[in-house]
Amino acid sequence: MTKFEALGLQKSLLDAVNDMGFESPSEVQEKAIPILLESETDLVALAQTGTGKTAAFGFPLIQKIDTDSRTTQGLILSPTRELCLQITNELKSYSKYEKNLNVVAIYGGASITEQARQIKRGAQIVVATPGRMKDMINRGMVNISKIDYCILDEADEMLNMGFFEDIKDILSNTPDEKSTWLFSATMPREVSIIAKKFMHSPQEITVGHKNSGASTVQHEYYVVGGRDRYPALKRLADTNPDIFSVVFCRTKRDTQRVAEKLIEDGYSAGALHGDLSQNQRDLVMNSFRKNQIQMLVATDVAARGIDVDNITHVINYQLPDEIETYTHRSGRTGRAGKSGISMVIVTRSELRKIKAIENKIKTDFIKKNIPTGMEICEIQLYHLANKIKDTEINEEVESFLPAINDVFQGIDREELIKKIVSVEFTRFYNYYNKAKDLNSSDGGDRDRSRNNRGDAPTSGSVRYFVNVGEKDGYDWMSLKDFIRDTVGLGKEDVYKVDVKESFSFFNTEAENTDTVLKTFTDFKVDGRFVNVEVSKNPGGGGRRGGRDRGRSRDRGKGRNSGGRRKDSYSSSSQNNNSGKRRSKRRNSDFF
Ligand code: ADP
Ligand code: MG
Repeated sequence: MTKFEALGLQKSLLDAVNDMGFESPSEVQEKAIPILLESETDLVALAQTGTGKTAAFGFPLIQKIDTDSRTTQGLILSPTRELCLQITNELKSYSKYEKNLNVVAIYGGASITEQARQIKRGAQIVVATPGRMKDMINRGMVNISKIDYCILDEADEMLNMGFFEDIKDILSNTPDEKSTWLFSATMPREVSIIAKKFMHSPQEITVGHKNSGASTVQHEYYVVGGRDRYPALKRLADTNPDIFSVVFCRTKRDTQRVAEKLIEDGYSAGALHGDLSQNQRDLVMNSFRKNQIQMLVATDVAARGIDVDNITHVINYQLPDEIETYTHRSGRTGRAGKSGISMVIVTRSELRKIKAIENKIKTDFIKKNIPTGMEICEIQLYHLANKIKDTEINEEVESFLPAINDVFQGIDREELIKKIVSVEFTRFYNYYNKAKDLNSSDGGDRDRSRNNRGDAPTSGSVRYFVNVGEKDGYDWMSLKDFIRDTVGLGKEDVYKVDVKESFSFFNTEAENTDTVLKTFTDFKVDGRFVNVEVSKNPGGGGRRGGRDRGRSRDRGKGRNSGGRRKDSYSSSSQNNNSGKRRSKRRNSDFF
């Protein structure tokens, strides 16, 4: 018996589970499904995003629907159109072996008459945004007076978005004797009011932090001057050539502005905010899903629907007003068992906010320094070298080679390598060569007292380069563990672990350097040499003091300043990554 069978799911659902490649239920599924299948009960389930809540209510709901009847029996309310469509799509996959089950999505920004027509044809399950739902009830286009199940998905988000009154209205159109299932990441006051008012002694389940996305997210902050936010953002992107990120801004204007600047500077970026048309938003989201955009710049409201796995970084260009919002932002990464990084760009005056967030999320931030220009150059150089090394040879070049060899005649291997990497590298070098240190000269004293793993004093800290990275299956957590265990160091002795695609960096205190280097002399894993060297660059930490080189900052904002050209993203490097990043059934074509 599989673990899904043990939950009491019927054959048709188990077959669908099998097709989807789900191996075992997630924690919230394991807890919720048996309860919902066995009894008619109200339920409050608290679990972070990315924990599989859709299936936790979707499976039992589908199993309980009477498909002989065409009456609407289940209503799912969800905050945004995006989520609405995602849920509908998921439910359709779960119910692919059910005969005569119709799931219909209703949401704003699309033809209401078409949606009404679909409902009329018989929809046992309706997935709706509150606004459109209310509208359709008022116009008599949908009848929810006989539903047996009402699901409030992402309840906290719905209430955050001001749907309290709408939800109350909608619920007052439903029968008393139905079951209500409320799913939420957090339990703010408004959610408990809804629970008290509309639910009858609900059972409660909470999915512990351990299995939630949250524990696999590393939180980092970078202290810069108020005017250096944008150049700092660029450096963070340049330090992570394979970044796949959401950059959060506070206003629509900033969102648009930052995205435009990034695009202008040659990054693959896009804006997502409420002033765009639905069509524009769909286009951006589609490109993001397909990994054609590496940096999605978004407002909190617009990002609510984003449910994309494999986001490597969340960047808080500005901190949100509400701490709760920070939790939602950082929850966009570190999903589906992967690790992620949430970066915050702050000014000195905002440091107390970091402290407040730390208290709230019960996790320490790591104070990091914006990489220096030379550190970025080093990273980009290794990245480039590895890219060349890993490039698949296109046999079509064969016929051109004699001529090409003529061109290179008389240039020896060493010189040729220098020239090849210089083609791209020079752009970064010219841009960063004299770039100033962006780190605000004094990040306050707390960083030293609290976070020795985050920011050791310059003198005692040594930065290393190691020739393994994501490609070898490491993320910052597993690499940290690997190095610590291999060298035999203490829990906090390895820090500032930055994992890139095919190489990484980390720091230890200088006193450990001999041991580290000795351990990794002629060291092999799976027959491959793992090579550790002291990085040429102290980077990733230590450097302080804000030498201002005045005009050199951010010069040449033109086309090539950021280093990357737009066209490079549509070519091989992007495609190579996309395979790895896409989850196998992530659907990009349901718009
Ligand atoms: P939530 O609503 O909690 O944010 P979702 O229901 O959207 O999470 O699920 C997140 C992702 O995990 C989806 O891509 C979903 O298909 C996948 N998923 C859900 N349950 C499982 C499972 N048991 N095994 C593997 N993947 C799962
Ligand atoms: Mg969900």
